[in-house]
Amino acid sequence: MNKDELFHLSRGRGLTVVAGPTAVGKGTVVRYLLENNPAVALSVSATTRAPRPGEVDGESYFFWTMDQFDAKIAAGEMLEYATVHGTNKYGTPKQPVIEAISQGKLVILEIDIQGARQVKQAMPEAKLVFIAPPNWSELVRRLQSRGTETPEEQARRLQSAEVELAAQNEFDHVVINDEVARCASEVLDLMQAH
Ligand code: 5GP
Repeated sequence: MNKDELFHLSRGRGLTVVAGPTAVGKGTVVRYLLENNPAVALSVSATTRAPRPGEVDGESYFFWTMDQFDAKIAAGEMLEYATVHGTNKYGTPKQPVIEAISQGKLVILEIDIQGARQVKQAMPEAKLVFIAPPNWSELVRRLQSRGTETPEEQARRLQSAEVELAAQNEFDHVVINDEVARCASEVLDLMQAH
C-alpha cells in the first residue's frame, strides 16, 4: 500500500456506517448486501451484554467482560464505543476494520448514533448512511407486525425511534427502505462512490 492509499485508509475510505430506527429493516438490508456482494464485509462488534440464545462469540458479537472492554479502550484498540440502553458497552474493534479495508473490502458498521458520530470524527471519509422508513405509520406497522416485543417495549422503542429520526440530518445520506433490494442497491452505490 502506498502513502496515498494509507492516508485515505486512515481517514475511513471504504467504511460505511449504517444506522436507523428500530424495525426499519436495516438488518435485512445489511444481510442482503452481504449475501449479494462478495466485496461487502460486516464488522463484528464487541459488547458487555450476555449472549442471547443462539448467538455465537466472534460471529454475532465478541462477548467481553466490562474489565476486558475497558482494557481495550485504554489500549486504544476501539474505533468507537458507546453505552447503549443505559448499561452495556458496545463498540467496534479497530484492527479487523483496518485489515478488511486494506484488503479492498467495503466495510459496514451497524452501530448506534453515538458510535456513528465518533466514527465520523475519527475518520472523516467514512460515509454515514441513515436508513429511514417510508413514513411513520409504516414504521409502527413493521414494529407491531414482527411481534417480538411486548406493547410496553414497542412504546419505548417508538419513543427512541422519534429521537433517532430527528438525528437523520447528521448523516451524509438518507435512504428510504421501501423495498429491500432497491434500498440495498442504493446503499451499495453510495458505498462504491468515492
Ligand atoms: P442488541 O443488544 O439488540 O444486539 O443491540 C443494541 C444496540 O446496540 C443496537 O441498537 C445497535 O445499534 C447498538 N450497537 C451494536 N453494536 C454496536 C457497536 O459496535 N457500537 C455502537 N456504538 N453501538 C452498537
